[in-house]
Amino acid sequence: MDEKIATLKKWVDESDNIVFFGGAGVSTESGIPDFRSVDGLYNQKYDYPPETILSHTFFMRKTSEFYKFYKDKLLLEGAKPNKAHLKLAELEKAGKLKAVITQNIDGLHQEAGSKEVMELHGSVQRNYCMKCHAFYDFAAIKEKVNEAAEKYKPGDADYMVPKCDKCGGIIKPDVVLYEEGLDGLTMQKSVQYIQNADVLIIGGTSLAVYPAAGLIDYYRGNKLVLVNLQPTPRDRYANLCIAGKIGEVFSQL
Ligand SMILES: [Zn+2]
Repeated sequence: MDEKIATLKKWVDESDNIVFFGGAGVSTESGIPDFRSVDGLYNQKYDYPPETILSHTFFMRKTSEFYKFYKDKLLLEGAKPNKAHLKLAELEKAGKLKAVITQNIDGLHQEAGSKEVMELHGSVQRNYCMKCHAFYDFAAIKEKVNEAAEKYKPGDADYMVPKCDKCGGIIKPDVVLYEEGLDGLTMQKSVQYIQNADVLIIGGTSLAVYPAAGLIDYYRGNKLVLVNLQPTPRDRYANLCIAGKIGEVFSQL
């Protein structure tokens, strides 16, 4: 076993207060595209750049265009939790891991069995009517998008737009779009977990995006672990830096 992974294993074995902070890299190993990597959504061709489509203004003004993109790129089925998701769920169950804080919106941590998951950017698994706040799950919104694709033609305002059964309002994913703020309670709880953590493991994120990147500054311990394929701007602050895929590293713990 690699010496660095052996150190991580020792820290994990000895601790009952581990917190994990994860980014897109955790999900790319499950086949979900990374928004910001070279191969990610940002470099794919569309009528508008993804950061425009995934903005609050765009959602409100061009809802049909938003859902066309959303259906293709974010309502992805078949992605399964990988070794990293499963190991984290196992550590929580064993009473060693306190929480997972994630920038991902796919719900794979919960699918793997994790209970305490701070979803900084929301989740495609939750959707609400904008008028009456009725809840719709992933399957329900997917079905409604498909129904609206059959009922209307491309170019129609309602093409692919999911509507509420109860009031006819437009359903919006509980995902933090550009121009929208992060949920205050989720941020507050994430800060608390990080402040109190013994071991903080950060994986699959370049740590380039604030405010998520700033959360790490709240850590007060001396077991800060960074696991990432590429170097990050925070490598020099870490007590342990492991260059590798998060799933492969976690499968050795
Ligand atoms: Zn409604």
